Amino acid sequence: MTERIVVIGADAAGMSAAAQAKRIAGDGVEIVAFERGAHTSYAACGIPYWVAGDIDKWERLIARSPEAHRRNGIDLRMRTQVEEIDLDAGRLAVHDLAGGRSYREGFDSLVIATGAVPVRPPLPGADASGVFGVQTLDDGAALLADLGRVQPRQAVVVGGGYIGVEMAEALVRHGVAVTVVDQAAQPMTTLDPDMGAAIHRAMEEMGIDVHTGTAVTGFETGSDGRIRSVLTAHGSIPADVVVLGLGVRPNTGLAHDAGLPLGDHAGLRTNQQMQVLGHDRVWAGGDCVEVLNLVSGQYQHVPLGTHANKQGRVIGHNLAGSYATFPGVVGTAISKVCHLEIARTGLRERDAERAGFAYVTVTVRSGTKAAYFPGTQQMRVKMTAERRSGRLLGVQIVGHQGSAKRIDTAATALWNRMTVEDMTSLDLGYAPPFSPVWDPILVAARKAAAAVRQAGADRQQQPAAG
Ligand SMILES: Cc1cc2nc3c(=O)[nH]c(=O)nc-3n(C[C@H](O)[C@H](O)[C@H](O)COP(=O)(O)OP(=O)(O)OC[C@H]3O[C@@H](n4cnc5c(N)ncnc54)[C@H](O)[C@@H]3O)c2cc1C
Repeated sequence: MTERIVVIGADAAGMSAAAQAKRIAGDGVEIVAFERGAHTSYAACGIPYWVAGDIDKWERLIARSPEAHRRNGIDLRMRTQVEEIDLDAGRLAVHDLAGGRSYREGFDSLVIATGAVPVRPPLPGADASGVFGVQTLDDGAALLADLGRVQPRQAVVVGGGYIGVEMAEALVRHGVAVTVVDQAAQPMTTLDPDMGAAIHRAMEEMGIDVHTGTAVTGFETGSDGRIRSVLTAHGSIPADVVVLGLGVRPNTGLAHDAGLPLGDHAGLRTNQQMQVLGHDRVWAGGDCVEVLNLVSGQYQHVPLGTHANKQGRVIGHNLAGSYATFPGVVGTAISKVCHLEIARTGLRERDAERAGFAYVTVTVRSGTKAAYFPGTQQMRVKMTAERRSGRLLGVQIVGHQGSAKRIDTAATALWNRMTVEDMTSLDLGYAPPFSPVWDPILVAARKAAAAVRQAGADRQQQPAAG
């Protein structure tokens, strides 16, 4: 009998799963996918660059259209919302938003790929005209249309995470004076505060006003209902347009109502094959799941497209009777604001402490190319290693063009549980246009290895406890 697979959510995780299962099993599986929105398989990651003008039209952000999925044999039902999951009966209640019709659909296996919901502050005026999220292509289109129509002079971005700083750049590129407001002490709290401070300084040098330690308390509108200013604990900031970049939380209400267990971060927990724990016929991937951090050993919510695509592929393999696993993450992420590149992998200092590691940490400044090569720029690398073993625990990079993707060397070392001493011998590529003869990662590893040796020597000199 043909296995009937039903997918909820037709973006990165859901359609990677569907496409992979179909690729392997062909007519051996029947796949129905429900998507409440108007697009499938699109790159939300590209929205800031589309708004900035790097990408000329939204169609370029679509990896695969509904028609392309249907040509591959997937029964894709757009503008259709799943409203209830009945696990015992193996059935969903769905609502066709365009046709206004409700019906039920049975499944043998279910894939939950419902993504995340953006955090919107429960504050007066947060829904005012001129206040935008940037979660979907429709959000991006609405913002771009508004920028064209209103020609704003002053913008406020609420939230200094990676989406906030990418949107700050996008608005700068429209010639708008930008203020970023964040209640944290520094922007980019996914890095340590000292690295965040470097980003803060660089953003100010670019002309972006950054208000840290500042909680937004409301949004003031004019008599026309349009945003006029953002109210904060430290006063009001004039704004013709506001972009919200306050992060996301797992979209798991539907799964929770069905009785599926959620983790500490409200995401679904799965095994390595991406089966929801305790439910062999239910699979989940993407922004609606929690992932195991392989360095800290703790579960986290890491809503990134890179994980959603990989997890979807793993689900597709397993649904089709093949075998694949998603072991976890090491916490790698990169971003940029104007010419400044930002990257991180592994644990921040506070993560290392929470996980119970004693550690050493070093920071080095280096060039992106050989010192004598035209165009070489500064970059800063912070490296953290376990104090006793020297095992690499984390790396953060802030620097100019050519800095960020160096994080992949560190991520690979982290994945393979290398020590910083081992890393000093890595055979990394060198030619003057690409790197100094000692790559910045090698320089940081050498300094970290020295710090580990010093910590060992200090330990030996301590009198034994009697
Ligand atoms: C502005 C922006 C920039 C980003 N940049 C990066 C980046 O540079 N690198 C990176 O790795 N990641 C980035 N991301 C994150 C990345 O886009 C997400 O991690 C990825 O899209 C998650 O895929 P997903 O399939 O889990 O969820 P989603 O893409 O959210 O898809 C879930 C789908 O499920 C549908 N759905 C939900 N509930 C139902 C229901 N009940 N019935 C029917 N359909 C439903 C939704 O309409 C949605 O289409 C960015 C995100 C944003 C918003």
